[in-house]
Amino acid sequence: MTTATADLKKVTKKVPIIGMMDNVMEQFNSAADHINLHQSIRKILSITNNEILVNFPVKMDNGDVEIFTGYRVQHNNALGPYKGGLRYHPTVDIDAARALAMWMTWKTSLAGLPYGGGKGGIKIDPSKYSQSELERITRRFTFALADNIGPEHDIPAPDVNTNSQTMAWIADTYMSTRPPAERTANQHVVTGKPDASGGLEGRDRATGYGVYLSIKFWADKSNTSLDGKKFIVQGFGNVGYWAAHFLEKEGAKLVAVQDATGSIQNQNGISVEDLFKYSQINDGSIVNFPDSKTVDTKKFFTLDCDICIPAALGNQITKENAHQIKARLIAEGANGPTNVEGEKILLERGITIIPDILCNSGGVVGSYFEWLQNRNGEIWQLDEVMAKLDKKMKESFNKVFDYAINETVDLRTAAFCIAIQRIEKAYIQRGIFP
Ligand code: NAD
Repeated sequence: MTTATADLKKVTKKVPIIGMMDNVMEQFNSAADHINLHQSIRKILSITNNEILVNFPVKMDNGDVEIFTGYRVQHNNALGPYKGGLRYHPTVDIDAARALAMWMTWKTSLAGLPYGGGKGGIKIDPSKYSQSELERITRRFTFALADNIGPEHDIPAPDVNTNSQTMAWIADTYMSTRPPAERTANQHVVTGKPDASGGLEGRDRATGYGVYLSIKFWADKSNTSLDGKKFIVQGFGNVGYWAAHFLEKEGAKLVAVQDATGSIQNQNGISVEDLFKYSQINDGSIVNFPDSKTVDTKKFFTLDCDICIPAALGNQITKENAHQIKARLIAEGANGPTNVEGEKILLERGITIIPDILCNSGGVVGSYFEWLQNRNGEIWQLDEVMAKLDKKMKESFNKVFDYAINETVDLRTAAFCIAIQRIEKAYIQRGIFP
């Protein structure tokens, strides 16, 4: 395993994801107003296509049986199969799954991919289960989802507390339960798989690399250098670690990190690689990292820095902390980390936000490359993947940046408008069946 998510067993603290759907709907409606979206298409896009809820039993290591609840929400597939991650977290519920599925629809559309949006997961604290229990839970969840997922229908990927190992279990279970002639040809039912199981070289770093690229493109547009810039990261998992890794290479200085177990700070700089190694031998946790002091978790976002990267959960930047944020740039590695009230305050204060559906889209672009690789029976090299990712991210960034300037709107509104207009065009061309 090469990513910070090598171990599924993590300590997770409870943070309610309140009203994520309210946020995404407000973002959608504000962009829909701006482009004067056709009323019928507004109605279609305001609601999810399908919502699958499964309760399923799993035998625990001690012989007891536990019942788990899993979700898969399919928001829209006008542009192609549903695409989006599976999250294992106590806060997973229908509201979170709907909102996250909707964000995926805008993200895949903005990135110009032939996909729609879906999302799901299991309401679970994975730190409470052994690796073999997590394997059985994942396999039984896959079995329960049955034909609701599929390589040309709905293609899950990793998200919070799931990783390439989780995807390998899903792919194996899905393929094992197909009719014999279809067993080997379906590995692209999920993306984010390990390399020997159809995974893409570089998929592990694709999201974090995309976050870094977005920041780099912003710096270029702002005629500023990243060298010496101080940044803070919430979430030191797949996205947070890789974003920090690439920013450090560019000369930027990591000064504070928060994960589910606590927050640390060192204004002189924290070595990203040393912290990563430390977390790997510390059950994924960053607390008590040598050469750092512990900081109050509530004050994390108000710490002194130039760039802030929320890369954990939704609803982290709100009216409670937006007034005190020191960063001039928020690069949203996570989905929905800034709520509508928080965003309003940040924009009034002149702080730039690179919105999630642009900033973290490197992940789904990498997933698309993996899916293509599997479908075509190819094996792509790392440098080829990174170059293609670079090109895709740059195209999306420039589109959003230019739209924002031409229409005098913020970057999120610009990103949403572009994404929604592409879907609107598909509906106008096709009409509504029957
Ligand atoms: P991960 O499981 O690898 O890491 C999550 C990190 O967040 C961990 O360090 C964990 O300790 C931390 N965390 C969890 N709860 C926290 C809390 N309450 N406070 C502070 N930190 C907390 O997950 P990931 O794949 O890195 O995903 C992080 C975010 O990025 C999610 O919002 C996800 O939807 C989004 N995202 C992920 C991808 C991807 O490819 N993995 C793609 C796009 C967006």
